[in-house]
Amino acid sequence: MPQPRTLDTYVQRALELGAEGAKIIPSEDVFTAEWVRLKCQYGCGGYGRCLMCPPYSPLPEQTRRVLDCYEHVLLVHGKPGAGIKGLVLSLEREIFIDGYYKALSLSAGPCRLCDRCDVETLCQHPREARPAMEASGIDVFATARKAGFPIEVVRERTCDQNYYGIVMIE
Ligand code: SF4
Repeated sequence: MPQPRTLDTYVQRALELGAEGAKIIPSEDVFTAEWVRLKCQYGCGGYGRCLMCPPYSPLPEQTRRVLDCYEHVLLVHGKPGAGIKGLVLSLEREIFIDGYYKALSLSAGPCRLCDRCDVETLCQHPREARPAMEASGIDVFATARKAGFPIEVVRERTCDQNYYGIVMIE
């Protein structure tokens, strides 16, 4: 039976796949908060329009309980154009195939795999679609900053933009 690769290997793999940075962090350093849900509900036009967004995505307390099922998290930092969603999903798949059978990812932003998300039916691409960290009640700002990664409020289109995704691993 082959030994699974060490977790540091996946930091290197993330960089090879186009990430700006990546780190293995303890799952307790991924922060959830009740207010995150309300930022989706009041202020985002995507609320209720996609199966990967609230109210369909996990509640903050559920995400906390799920995070607590894991020891480690691979936090991935991507710049615009890096395709953070595909990148994190590829890592999830690789890590799972390596034997970390609990590997599960969350990424950034709304799901755009279909032209229009029909919230009256089941997801059309369940193998690829994952909720965003923020859609699952994660305080992405606090999480990225704790890990030493950059993130600021995007005040206008010309501002520096940073995207984050995670793969929970054990
Ligand atoms: S894959 Fe399609 S059906 Fe599934 S959440 Fe994304 S847009 Fe909706």
